[in-house]
Amino acid sequence: MDLDTYHSLYQRGQNALKDWENQWPEVRVDDTLAVDPTVVEKAVTQLTQRLTDNYPFFHPQYAGQMLKPPHPVAMLGYMLAMQINPNNHALDGGPATSKMEKECVEALGRFFGLPNCLGHLTGGGTMANLEALWVAKQLHPDRFIVFSEEAHYTHKRMCDLIGADYVQIPATYKGKMDLDALKPLLEDGQTGTVVATLGTTSLGALEPLEELVALKEKYKFRIHLDTAYGGFYRALAESDPDLSAFTWTKDCNSIVVDPHKHGLQPYGCGCVLFADPGVGQVYQHDSPYTYFTSDELHLGEISLECSRPGAAAAALWLTLQCFPLEAERGFGPILKKTRQAALTMAQALEASAQLTLLHPPELDIVTFFPTGERVSEINQRTEQLFTTAMTAEPEATVYLAKLTIPSARLRALHPDITQDAESLTVLRSCLMKPEHLTTATSIVGQLISLVNP
Ligand SMILES: *Cc1c(COP(=O)(O)O)cnc(C)c1O
Repeated sequence: MDLDTYHSLYQRGQNALKDWENQWPEVRVDDTLAVDPTVVEKAVTQLTQRLTDNYPFFHPQYAGQMLKPPHPVAMLGYMLAMQINPNNHALDGGPATSKMEKECVEALGRFFGLPNCLGHLTGGGTMANLEALWVAKQLHPDRFIVFSEEAHYTHKRMCDLIGADYVQIPATYKGKMDLDALKPLLEDGQTGTVVATLGTTSLGALEPLEELVALKEKYKFRIHLDTAYGGFYRALAESDPDLSAFTWTKDCNSIVVDPHKHGLQPYGCGCVLFADPGVGQVYQHDSPYTYFTSDELHLGEISLECSRPGAAAAALWLTLQCFPLEAERGFGPILKKTRQAALTMAQALEASAQLTLLHPPELDIVTFFPTGERVSEINQRTEQLFTTAMTAEPEATVYLAKLTIPSARLRALHPDITQDAESLTVLRSCLMKPEHLTTATSIVGQLISLVNP
């Protein structure tokens, strides 16, 4: 969307809201709220200057962390709703945006195959996971929550916070839960909930959900799916055999997805979904002052957070009107390109002598390193390339991220490399913009030209 269209739509929306405001007597803004225009102007200049101390997250030469600006449609939704500033804690705080939130939750629930789910938006994936783990603990207070060492680091912390007993099990060399380590635990019958990750934060790896669903039949534990990063790839589960793990989302008890990662939203938008709406019971509390206008569900009744931005719901709602959760339109075509970008980059890396691919990417995260014979040598070259790529001339800069993994994994992945250090640092790229498809090959070319032979 070009800037003119954005401004004109924003203007039109603001005018419509102004018309709505005008039905009440005019408000004379209090003098205490007045600002000196020259002060604001100066402060805004300072702000925009200070904001340039950032990496160009919008640009396809930025291929580092999980970061990109929101879609302008999401910004429009957010800005317009923010003008009213509804609070989705209670229907009385934001009737319109609470309805939008319920519609978003319903759409995401249908998308994942949980048609009757209970859920809501959260501040992010961490809060959403906290809530899912808290429910897991309420349902099985005496049993373990189990997750792999590749699960997001906050699971462990959240278990500590809620006082849940947990077991962290090893990951295979592919960076996903080792089912052989899980099975003895299941035999004990002490496992209440297993956390699976589809799209691990480090590698974008898909943990074996299909196998877990089969084990769940036998051992009767719950599955919590953390697909904060990868969840939107559900759109391609039926059309891309590499993504078939996502067809099993329907068999999970709870799911976390982050619209502020692949869902085109600004930060402050996670989501938790529970397959069984009956879990609403564990939230019961008495808040004397917020729920008074109806018998309908107030989202604050099923949320650990109290105040939540209605604007985040409006932003996601507007985005889903324009980008449906489908394979052939909306999100599907975007994700096909980001996936293709990762495959293209992986292919270029495999063809190069100077760089080595660590893992074939399962989503859009590519990990690689400057070719070397020893881990210590690779670590040093990784640091060097990371810095030189980031400090090249603007037309040639490449922004990457780094990842540290146990060197022992190389035994299966690259047995020729001498393990003379405990941990291996590699480069990591999240190709989460569709424009990355056009730069995937040239990024590798540029990195090759910078590698120290
Ligand atoms: C990003 C991420 C989280 C944490 O979510 P935040 O939105 O950063 O709080 C949890 N799990 C996975 C798999 C993630 O990728």
